[in-house]
Amino acid sequence: MTDKQHPLPTRSPADVPSAERTISFADLNLHPTILDAIRDAGYSVPTPIQRDAIPLALNGRDIMGLAQTGTGKTAAFTLPIIERLIDGPRRTRALILTPTRELCVQVEESFRKYARHGEISVIAVYGGVPLDPQERRLREGVDVVVATPGRLIDHLDRQNVVFDDLEVLVLDEADRMLDMGFAPQINRIVDQVPAYRQTLLFSATMPPEVEALARKYLRKPIVVQVGVRSAAASTVTHAVYPVPREKKNALLVELLTGSVHDSVLIFSRTKHGADRIVRDLEKAGVTATAMHADKSQSQRTKALQEFKDGKISVLVATDIAQRGLDISGITHVINYDVPQQAEDYVHRIGRTGRAAKEGDAYTFMSPDEIGMVRTIERMIGKPIPRISVPGFDFGTVAAD
Ligand code: AMP
Repeated sequence: MTDKQHPLPTRSPADVPSAERTISFADLNLHPTILDAIRDAGYSVPTPIQRDAIPLALNGRDIMGLAQTGTGKTAAFTLPIIERLIDGPRRTRALILTPTRELCVQVEESFRKYARHGEISVIAVYGGVPLDPQERRLREGVDVVVATPGRLIDHLDRQNVVFDDLEVLVLDEADRMLDMGFAPQINRIVDQVPAYRQTLLFSATMPPEVEALARKYLRKPIVVQVGVRSAAASTVTHAVYPVPREKKNALLVELLTGSVHDSVLIFSRTKHGADRIVRDLEKAGVTATAMHADKSQSQRTKALQEFKDGKISVLVATDIAQRGLDISGITHVINYDVPQQAEDYVHRIGRTGRAAKEGDAYTFMSPDEIGMVRTIERMIGKPIPRISVPGFDFGTVAAD
């Protein structure tokens, strides 16, 4: 590979399935045995990163995936690798580098889970355990190597493995690998794999070091980002969605799966409601956590902190759980139920968001909540724009 700089284009609409359309795993043209494994894993629909990345990866494109743990990123690169390997020759054709032994083992387990119906062999290679058993297995030959960089260098130095036939290289959690000082090891490893290959790089963040790594090792990559894309026009930061009560869950799923997102705090009036929202989101492939009204203050604070740190991307909280918590700095709030107290609306919205800009706040309003929304609008002194989503609204309601 050359070090020649090339721009990192974001995905173009032609490369990506329409975000408005819900697609199924069957639409992704995966081998029937993979579809069986996905069904056994209990997944009903692809997550946004899977929906966007899998078709590109199957087409052989290099991908720069901006996604954190919990988005389904592991399957986004594992499934296309299995598809590629399923019928081909038995050689070491894929290498996945991970920062930690925990992630290494998790990725190996994903391969085993999704390749269960095939005959693909996989090994996890990480430090802190004896070299010999790993050495023996590597020398026998495996299809997929999942490794932490330091230990893999040990094996390369002993010529326990060669990557002459490698077709796919994955750099998982690239930002963390660089933070941990693995840049020299990564460089040495990439020097030993064929230049003609597919490279998939995943990272939760894109600091200049990761961008430099991507420029160096990826060829014409498509950037696939699981970030917040507001459902409203970009200038709209508040919006009310008129929606019948019984369609609120479907609308929420539509908004969260139809558009990409990375941190959404959802408020539900009741604990029961919060639980149901989490269940429905999970069913739709969106990982969410409920902040129960009956959890301790320290548990709530911890959940909120993990949410702010990006470890949890969707948090569903009850009104009660919100009290006493610092929700400043959160960029997206969805009021699944219109707050009972107009002050709560102001509190949530006022505290939300980036320094100079109010945060995005969407409020689902069923017909019986119209009066409450009007009270809020009087209190904040301005109407809130309405957004009608075809199939989910109950007719246009004037903003008064
Ligand atoms: P990851 O972001 O790869 O660490 O995955 C987070 C979790 O989501 C894992 O427990 C996966 O088993 C799960 N997962 C991955 N893809 C899906 C999907 N399409 N539907 C439901 N759960 C999924």
